[in-house]
Amino acid sequence: MAATRNLMRAVRVFEFGGPEVLKIQSDVVIPVPKENQVLIKVHACGVNPVEAYIRSGTYARKPTLPYTPGSDVAGVIEGVGEHVTAFKKGDRVFTIGTISGGYADYAVAAANKVFPLSDKLDFKQGAAVAIPYFTAYRALFQKGHAKAGESVLVHGASGGVGIATCQIARACGLKVLGTAGTEEGMNIVLRNGAHQVFNHREANYIDKIKEYTKMEGVDIIIEMLSNINLAADLQLLSCGGRVMVVGCRGPIEINPRDTMTKESSIIGVSLFLATEEMHECAAALLDGIEAGWLNPIVGPEYPLEQVAKAHEDIIHGSGARGKMVLLL
Ligand code: NAP
Repeated sequence: MAATRNLMRAVRVFEFGGPEVLKIQSDVVIPVPKENQVLIKVHACGVNPVEAYIRSGTYARKPTLPYTPGSDVAGVIEGVGEHVTAFKKGDRVFTIGTISGGYADYAVAAANKVFPLSDKLDFKQGAAVAIPYFTAYRALFQKGHAKAGESVLVHGASGGVGIATCQIARACGLKVLGTAGTEEGMNIVLRNGAHQVFNHREANYIDKIKEYTKMEGVDIIIEMLSNINLAADLQLLSCGGRVMVVGCRGPIEINPRDTMTKESSIIGVSLFLATEEMHECAAALLDGIEAGWLNPIVGPEYPLEQVAKAHEDIIHGSGARGKMVLLL
């Protein structure tokens, strides 16, 4: 929607709570970029589970109220601060963080959190790159030290981070196993790099994975729901294997002895803690876009007006089939 003078639509959160606290306002002043910032006309913005955790007020990190959620914007540069030389008005870009919030017609971002968006990707795909692929890369390589020839189980492979992990791991020479909760999700996982897929809603699927990996086990597990799966994951690992805790929504009981028998590791992953290492991620991923193996799969799409439904679904929906995006 075109902005009226210097006003725009934006989602505003004035209090923490359920999805209903996401309020759409159409008279928000378009922010002005400072020296090292850019102003982006937003075409699409990724919806990530963490944005629902933060909105609920139960997450460790809490923004100052009121705020506009949204990190993964794709759009076109509208203006740049006086010190910005890397971008100019009209450039297609995507971001891994915004200052003013991405669920809005326009967003201001620090120039060092902005990347060129290849013509190979549309805006919806651009909004599906940053948090999913940067997290996947960090989990696999920066924290998991994955190597070509190793095997990886992407436990929860049908969503944003899962598909990203499958594509990266396959392109880098790993043997890729994935799980999804529906037939459609399983097919998407197979089409995006997995050699083999399992249904995590089937009662005996852990036995099927054990049968498939025989005595060897899997070298790395990228875990999207640790509070459900961590104890079983420890049974699936190879000697020296590691579980990367990417997603977790509560506590779980495990037997630490299960790590002794294989000298296995449980390693936390936090994209939020990546600073300088972002450059390495960006270099690898921008190259993947150009080479063609990085091809984001867009799942459910919501107009801005349905932002509350999007937040409801990102937590309570099932049957992921790619990355959820908001369309502006
Ligand atoms: P998403 O798009 O909503 O995908 C969720 C995935 O979890 C789907 O593949 C879903 O499969 C799967 N799942 C559902 N039940 C499962 C089960 N019992 N076992 C294994 N997987 C199951 O979310 P996302 O953006 O990919 O994020 C995934 C998780 O990573 C979230 O918890 C998110 O908060 C976290 N995350 C962490 C970081 C970090 O820095 N640590 C960064 C980004 C994301 P079906 O729908 O097919 O059942």
